[in-house]
Amino acid sequence: ARFSTLPLDAKLLRAVADAGYETMTPIQAKAIPVVLAGRDVMGAAQTGTGKTAAFSIPLLQKMMRHESASVSPARHPVRALVLAPTRELADQVANNVKTYAKHTQLRSTVVFGGIDMKPQTLELKKGVEVLIATPGRLLDHIEAKNCNLSQVEYVVLDEADRMLDIGFLPDLQRILSYLPKTRQTLLFSATFSPEIKKLAQSYLQDPLLVEV
Ligand code: AMP
Repeated sequence: ARFSTLPLDAKLLRAVADAGYETMTPIQAKAIPVVLAGRDVMGAAQTGTGKTAAFSIPLLQKMMRHESASVSPARHPVRALVLAPTRELADQVANNVKTYAKHTQLRSTVVFGGIDMKPQTLELKKGVEVLIATPGRLLDHIEAKNCNLSQVEYVVLDEADRMLDIGFLPDLQRILSYLPKTRQTLLFSATFSPEIKKLAQSYLQDPLLVEV
């Protein structure tokens, strides 16, 4: 099906068209309506299936209902948090989000380890609605009080199986403990091991399984 059949704001449809997308990939066709409906999702999808757009486009749509054009950081609290296993993946997700959000007022940034925290801190202090992060560096910023996650409404655990393989479970548990309990949570994973199922059971509410 075409993106234009979805109940998406013209600004998002324009960005999708600018990117050259016409029809949805299978994971997009299945997941976008479910995310728009507000359900928690367990998505079985590998990289290359279009899963980034499958979660970011509907989340941007939901956030656009309360967009702010203000420059005040206080008017741009973090509302969506995407956690990814590696800096490469986090950077890729961030570039995609920027592409889809380019005609909106929504701001985004990415934080990952291995580089100086300062430029990231400056971006966080300006205020961003969408924060993409690797778990370790996000905890560094939380501890330094560089970001406030008390208004997060949407959480994405991207490539959750890889995050567990890297040993990020304790970091994920800590980060999730700082987030509001009332939120929409999406978990994407290429495989559904018992550990992933346990993670989903602990942190997702009545999730819908989306497979392609
Ligand atoms: P992902 O699986 O999210 O890493 O996406 C893989 C690649 O497919 C990215 O380069 C996207 O820009 C591209 N892509 C995602 N959705 C579509 C679509 N519906 N039509 C064409 N290309 C797409």
